[in-house]
Amino acid sequence: EGVMPDLATAHRNTPFCPILELAGRIQSRDKPVVDFSIGVPNFTPPQRVYDAAIAAIHADQCRYGPSRGEAGLIAAYLHYLAQLGQDHFGPVNIAVGQGGKHLLYSLFQVLFEPGDTVVIPAPCWPTYFDIARLSGVAVRTPYCGLHQGYKLDPATLEAALRGRVVALVLNNPSNPTGALYSQAELAALADVLRRHDVWIISDDVYQRFVYTDEPCPHLLDVAPDLASRIIKVDSISKLYGMPGWRAGLLAAPPEVAEAVTVLNSNSISNMPPMVAAAAAAALGGDQGFSQQMTHGYQARRDILLTAFDSAPQIRCARPGGAFYLFPDISRVFGSMHGKQMISTDEDLCNLLLEDYGVAAVPGRHFGAPDNIRLSYAIDADQVKTGARQILRCLAELE
Ligand code: PLP
Repeated sequence: EGVMPDLATAHRNTPFCPILELAGRIQSRDKPVVDFSIGVPNFTPPQRVYDAAIAAIHADQCRYGPSRGEAGLIAAYLHYLAQLGQDHFGPVNIAVGQGGKHLLYSLFQVLFEPGDTVVIPAPCWPTYFDIARLSGVAVRTPYCGLHQGYKLDPATLEAALRGRVVALVLNNPSNPTGALYSQAELAALADVLRRHDVWIISDDVYQRFVYTDEPCPHLLDVAPDLASRIIKVDSISKLYGMPGWRAGLLAAPPEVAEAVTVLNSNSISNMPPMVAAAAAAALGGDQGFSQQMTHGYQARRDILLTAFDSAPQIRCARPGGAFYLFPDISRVFGSMHGKQMISTDEDLCNLLLEDYGVAAVPGRHFGAPDNIRLSYAIDADQVKTGARQILRCLAELE
């Protein structure tokens, strides 16, 4: 009989990545929208990146490459880390992957047993939940609200770590809130973490996009004594406007880097050599343009914050980095748009998309149904138009 056997439980129950799904839906519409949905930087990488990839192709670098990463890429990443003040890493600490998402997936495979519990403060990037589901890992999500700037505080962390917890995932600055932890805040969290024997996965894919003159504060700086438990996840995607290249790197204790490398050797085999060449060129050369991008993002953040100042239905925490704003829009719940009641984040996002030509992501995907997420890494004119349209929508609610 041709009866199909079942899929594995975890794979039956895991949804398609909600943000990619939404982005696909928006891109396939024929009406123009101001697209605040997906977090894609609106710039292209420097010419040297293209040159390096094309040179690799012309040099016929199309065999298998090393599972632990091309030497040139590792050297460029170590240089990048050293520029951030983290000069204690060497090649044994590094592993590569096909983007930050793939590295996080790999880490869940190599660090956790099914049934383990991981603490992930919310609001947070939805993929953490789905990677956990795919790995059979339970997630504990202490909610960190608007009044605390969407940031985890020591008491909340202490409470979340009760019982048997194996890891904390921290994302600084944060998608979806733009929240940026200061040195002092990280030091206070480190005091708690010292008392609990857990892995700390630091998702640093937005690390270069901070609206301060100092580099982004990092646990490795404030608590070097915890280095044997900290795993730093980096990605080329946001940093260099290269999300489609699928290149990420991590810096970790050697045992962790080795385990991820072994997993690579048995799964992806290697990062494509021309991608590795492009990533090395991006990380290795002048980084001035990422500074310029950050100034551009800060200006866009300010356009939105200034516009929303005049809207009593919207409450925002001021993002310190990344390129996301996460307005609390719960005050609109219960209002009417014509005959239609707006009761949820999804209702508001649908209304914005259908009637006002603005795409935003419902906060529920990030564990925060009182909010919507706006990714403002788009042209400044678009940001202005989008802000105007959102204000018009709110003014037309009764
Ligand atoms: N971590 C966070 C918080 C993100 O927002 C993203 C992308 O949206 C990633 C990791 C992974 O990005 P990539 O797989 O493109 O490196």
